[in-house]
Amino acid sequence: MIAKENPARITELVGSVPVAGASGVDAAVRRAEAARRDWAAGPLAARIAALRDGAAAIAPRLDELAVLLARESGKPLADCRGEIGFALAYLRWVCEHAPGVLAVSDVADGSGRLVTRRRPYGVVACVTPWNAPVILAMTKLAPALAAGNTAVVKPSPLAPLTVSEIAAALPHVEIVHGGAETGQALVTHPLVRKVAFTGGDAAGRAIGAAAGSMLTPSVMELGGNDPALLLPDFALTPEDYERLVMATFATSGQVCMAAKRLYVPRRRAAEFAAAYVAAAERILLVGDPLTAGVSMGPVISAQAADRIRELVGQDGTAVPLGRATGDLGAGYFVTPALVTGLPDSAALVTAEQFGPAVPLLEYDTEEEALARANASELGLAASVWSADEERAFAVAGRLEAGFVFVNTHNRTGMSPRAPFGGVKRSGYGREYGEEGLLEYVQTTVAHAPAAFRPGGSGMAAGAYPEL
Ligand code: NAD
Repeated sequence: MIAKENPARITELVGSVPVAGASGVDAAVRRAEAARRDWAAGPLAARIAALRDGAAAIAPRLDELAVLLARESGKPLADCRGEIGFALAYLRWVCEHAPGVLAVSDVADGSGRLVTRRRPYGVVACVTPWNAPVILAMTKLAPALAAGNTAVVKPSPLAPLTVSEIAAALPHVEIVHGGAETGQALVTHPLVRKVAFTGGDAAGRAIGAAAGSMLTPSVMELGGNDPALLLPDFALTPEDYERLVMATFATSGQVCMAAKRLYVPRRRAAEFAAAYVAAAERILLVGDPLTAGVSMGPVISAQAADRIRELVGQDGTAVPLGRATGDLGAGYFVTPALVTGLPDSAALVTAEQFGPAVPLLEYDTEEEALARANASELGLAASVWSADEERAFAVAGRLEAGFVFVNTHNRTGMSPRAPFGGVKRSGYGREYGEEGLLEYVQTTVAHAPAAFRPGGSGMAAGAYPEL
């Protein structure tokens, strides 16, 4: 049994879930396998109707589920409402766009007749993290189910409760609980045809290797160490500064696409730091996620708190940010900080901190800033801030990142139509947009060359077509 505590009040048990061993995983995959043919064979319209019913069943429970998510994850209540609302909006987006993206194409022309179908894989295994558990399950389930797959989800043991409620409302979704062992049993199951993973580097490598050993294709959404690049002409209003502060400190910095390194022109560094600290004072209130006005809760575990404190304590000068309310001794709270005076080799710069601390890095030239921003093994997201949008887009094209935000960063810059995913070691495959739907189908074709159709010119046996 996994007993889930509230990270803001660690003596409070929020709920518990049973751990699935290998036989539990096998049973779940077999149930998903048994359902997949009928589900895929039915009309797309019927699948979309079932998904819309799922959304309609979840929507009236938004408040109740948001409280559950806040209590199990430590994320502020408004964020939890936002997360579930965005997940439902994305589900509806998929319902709207799936017919166009998944349509059969049947072309008959001078080259012959070519029918192209988007065929579902079968059973999709979804292994998901705790930090946005509802969204990150939905980015897999909505396109996978619409395309005619069935699914087995293994959520993180650190936030298994809300996502269980969401999964139960959707058609043909099985859920299995546990840690790495359960995850391994799932991704190596011979009836699993596709693996969808979101999480960190170590688990990503283990899962990628395990899926690879079965020749099961995978989509990998891994960690990031996102640079936010303030170009020399940046012109931030107080609201822009607040948005930039929350781009780092939302979910206590535990977001894959959080702004994790701030590159600021040296001659404007003091002006930037003062405005940033002032914005944090206005917008950042640390406390219990259920307290009104709180914008930053605890981190997820004692281990995470220790890791972040150690990272911050190593080097540089930490400037504490924001205000606090309530009893912070009751949970895993970490004081948010802006850290100055760090060399590029500092661990807070080179590693994904995944916590409420961000380094301010000063640069002299734009070229130098770009080179330093790109000097990372990770390439998930990034941002460029400039008074000149053209210039920002030009720089965006030179950043080694899968998603570059312009004049914003993190969740305020997301769109269901924009494919999201990393370059370099931040992963492969995409979520959202057309690509996010195509991730869950394989293209199959039926083809009759014109030469052999009625009235065709024929072709010598064994010849290549002349193009
Ligand atoms: P994690 O990698 O520790 O765990 C993710 C999931 O994998 C969990 O369900 C976990 O139980 C499972 N798991 C762990 N080891 C496994 C193994 N060896 N075999 C099978 N399953 C295993 O990640 P986390 O702490 O939950 O989330 C934090 C990480 O996720 C950060 O690195 C963050 O950047 C990343 N992340 C990426 C995205 C993205 O879209 N790219 C989004 C959110 C989070």
